[in-house]
Amino acid sequence: MLKVQDGCTHRCTYCIVPSLRHHVASRSAAEVVEEARRLLAQGYAELIISGINLKQYGRDQPQLGDFWDLLQNLDNELARDYAGRARLRISSVEPSQLNERGLQVLKACRMLCPHLHISLQHASQRILRRMGRGHYTAQDLASALERIQAFWPRFGLGCDLISGFPGEKEDDHAELLAFCQAMPFTYAHVFPYSPRPGTAAASFPDQVAESIQARRARELRKLFQEKNRRFRQKLLDENALLQIVLEGEGGEREKGVCQYYLSCSLIKSNETAPTRGLVTVQAKALTSKGLAVSLDQDSR
Ligand code: SF4
Repeated sequence: MLKVQDGCTHRCTYCIVPSLRHHVASRSAAEVVEEARRLLAQGYAELIISGINLKQYGRDQPQLGDFWDLLQNLDNELARDYAGRARLRISSVEPSQLNERGLQVLKACRMLCPHLHISLQHASQRILRRMGRGHYTAQDLASALERIQAFWPRFGLGCDLISGFPGEKEDDHAELLAFCQAMPFTYAHVFPYSPRPGTAAASFPDQVAESIQARRARELRKLFQEKNRRFRQKLLDENALLQIVLEGEGGEREKGVCQYYLSCSLIKSNETAPTRGLVTVQAKALTSKGLAVSLDQDSR
């Protein structure tokens, strides 16, 4: 994890972070590049660029530019030495960051995994407004994803969702389900809403009963389980080549994560199979939550 930013001033109505970490602090590109080079020299093959709210990168020091400037800079600096040997991944972005500039940078980066994790939270505009996140719409995300598909023909796509937020009606939930079904999501983190003392939403009068929250979260998780299974099956059917970063933990099967953010377990064919680093593999079978893979013949 390469942390480039701390703090958030946004004040989503459910979130306590701005009360605890109100001060936004961004690290300069030079500092980030230096740390990235140090980690890569130590043998790390994947760096996850993270922050509390990457949208606010640079707010404290406008001369740094925004998150996209930082990412472009980092990729430019590292690619000539490390492209093909290591990679970058973005921890999480929110839909409003996927603007023209963001898409240009995603397309141009040579070390970036074709994977995005979106801090979406909901698809109903009424609920997004109540969450204090009315500055984007589900449609904004749909439009951006359509454009991303033009340069990433295949990509991993996850999102964070809050289910059963105060005031969420069956219609809102149905809208969220339909949106998630229609979008090319490959997984999601579904959180049933839980009130945080000290946040605005904790005192909203129309809290949703726990049993309803649990049922809605279940329906969402079921939908995503099926979407994830279909994505993995497609990789298998297409004999997709995957690049996995092995975790070097040993055991019967080495574990790793592929560029699309799927857990993979490497079927060992001989004693000299690699245990660390970035290797090219082929999907061979579905496992309960990921893929069993074997070394690609050409890269042995
Ligand atoms: S959810 Fe994210 S953007 Fe919203 S207040 Fe919390 S940290 Fe900031």
